[in-house]
Amino acid sequence: MGRSILIVEDEKEIRDLLVHYLRREGFSPTVAPDGETGWEKARTEEPELILLDILLPGMDGLDLLRKIRTDPATSRTPVVMLTAKGDETDRIIGLELGADDYIPKPFSPREVVARIKAVIRRSAPEPGEAGKKVFVYGDLRMDVPRHKVLLRGKPVPLTPKEFRILKTLLSSAGRVLSRETILARVWGEGTHVTDRTVDVHIAKIRQKIPFLADAIRTVKDVGYQLPER
Ligand code: CA
Repeated sequence: MGRSILIVEDEKEIRDLLVHYLRREGFSPTVAPDGETGWEKARTEEPELILLDILLPGMDGLDLLRKIRTDPATSRTPVVMLTAKGDETDRIIGLELGADDYIPKPFSPREVVARIKAVIRRSAPEPGEAGKKVFVYGDLRMDVPRHKVLLRGKPVPLTPKEFRILKTLLSSAGRVLSRETILARVWGEGTHVTDRTVDVHIAKIRQKIPFLADAIRTVKDVGYQLPER
């Protein structure tokens, strides 16, 4: 059963509406009325994407998102948050915690379906992208197995952490990466390293590879993005 979407939402009417629209689009929705059930299903059913309401009884959506992002079984599952209208704080926290997108309530089901499709499209590895070994970005070439970065043919000396951060940015070009996501991918889960460390390393990469100084975008309150080219 492909294209399964887990909907974690306590309001039955909204759940039913989403189920109806998602089925019509060929998805296989599954539902959870609270965070605990959502967590259970996220791990056991391995959905293709999780649609997560923030305001839930018991464990709320942000707590659940934190768990999803720190468990190796679920850390890569795309998550789209449903947020109360105009709640900027929830939106920012959600993106910092690694949500892939957010949809303010009230929403049109059509918009939800469109956003879900866009997130799935962005999350799918390009053909041959999984385990990709060489990245080319403008004048920059990264050869992963040889652990080499060349700028116009000249080697750029990067520390192992800088190398891994750059690889993370290159392999997710076009996506906004939160500091938390970068920390998890480069330092691993449960690290005691702070967000500030990511900033310091990004600054070093920008110094060593000047054209990336402009290319790497700082996304206010969230993290970084290397645009596709
Ligand atoms: Ca709710």
